[in-house]
Amino acid sequence: MASINGDWFHSRSSSNLEELLAVRELVIESQKPDYSGWRWSGSRYTDPMQYRFAEIVGVQPSTMQTKIRTMIRYGFIKEGNLCPLIWTRMGSIWNDLYTIGNYIAAQQIYELTLSISLAIFAFNDSHAQYSTNPAQGDIPLKFLLNNLDNDNSISLTEFSALVDGTKEGVARDASYWKRDLINSGLFNELNDRLIYTSKYPNFVREIKNFTPNTLLSDADWESIRDNPLIEISPFKVSIKEIFENITQQQSIEEQITDEIYTAPLVEAVSEEEESQIPELDILSTDLRFANSTRRMRNAAWAIRIKKKYNYICAVPNCDVNGQIFVEASHIKPDNVPDGAPPHRTHILNGICLCRHCHIAFDKGYFSLTDDHRIITSPKFSEIVDQNLKTVILSSNSIVIKSRIDSKMPLAEFIRYHRNFKFKN
Ligand SMILES: [Zn+2]
Repeated sequence: MASINGDWFHSRSSSNLEELLAVRELVIESQKPDYSGWRWSGSRYTDPMQYRFAEIVGVQPSTMQTKIRTMIRYGFIKEGNLCPLIWTRMGSIWNDLYTIGNYIAAQQIYELTLSISLAIFAFNDSHAQYSTNPAQGDIPLKFLLNNLDNDNSISLTEFSALVDGTKEGVARDASYWKRDLINSGLFNELNDRLIYTSKYPNFVREIKNFTPNTLLSDADWESIRDNPLIEISPFKVSIKEIFENITQQQSIEEQITDEIYTAPLVEAVSEEEESQIPELDILSTDLRFANSTRRMRNAAWAIRIKKKYNYICAVPNCDVNGQIFVEASHIKPDNVPDGAPPHRTHILNGICLCRHCHIAFDKGYFSLTDDHRIITSPKFSEIVDQNLKTVILSSNSIVIKSRIDSKMPLAEFIRYHRNFKFKN
């Protein structure tokens, strides 16, 4: 019978949440200046600091090192022997969600991270070792998924044979494997069988057909585990879809107002999308955003606009700033159907304004010239708020505050606002 003969993470602790939480404590501790540049992987015989560091999680140094290495293998922290310990992109999203108390989304990211590392690892038969480069051996998860019965399950006996083959000590590796597969949410155990849960159908389809690009280096594969949304990632499309599903399940529309619950998720997707848009495309069309769901797009768009302006109201003489006081305002309005270029989530169709300036801008009491100067409406006297009046009138003909990337709103969007919104 075919088998993988995988020495599945030999000499390791488990992939469970408790272990990850222990490592989280170590990551936090490792940020302290005392540990800067210190070798966490060093020998306990020559370095008493090993005991001090390991004591944070109440274990011996060797156990502490095993825990850290395990979480490196699973893609939660980056490979590296010196402190501070650094989260990967996935690990950092998990940590952000966990820290702010969104345990449901944190659990989903935990399972996804585990699934990604299971999808990428390979076993190298000749060395009976795992490899982080899937082109260097058999990929156990792919192998397993392609060897399930018609009902998408496998008996534990058959599973043990697949994993351990004819090797001595059969079932030892299978038990590690089983725990990882269940903790990833990909499998359930029932009546001595492992059953695929139907989780991540598109991602699983990609894993089943996965042929690793042999041109990618070990470092490339590490980058993919760090952030599976990057361009070279073989799973970027399905993983992005999973991110979006998680965001929607966490009802982002209700929670986005305080920007706390799902912001790490939204930002990971949107920043990756933005980095993939060639500079020229920013000035023409931005079709990638059209593929996202509308809720997702708008929430991500608003966060990005505010961030680009560093959470400062862009009206020159307005001094309002701070995440909870500013809003992202469309220049060409959101309720106008998308044209070419699509404007609703165009990153150059947004301006960060405080609540009062936002209302005045939307109502057309001020607009912008093509070269980004404030123009005030003759109807400006209608504004009751004296303070707002002073702020905007004194800003007349001054260029708006610039974004941190120095990009300015597109003139075609500004013209729309001037022609259709501005009160002449
Ligand atoms: Zn303002």
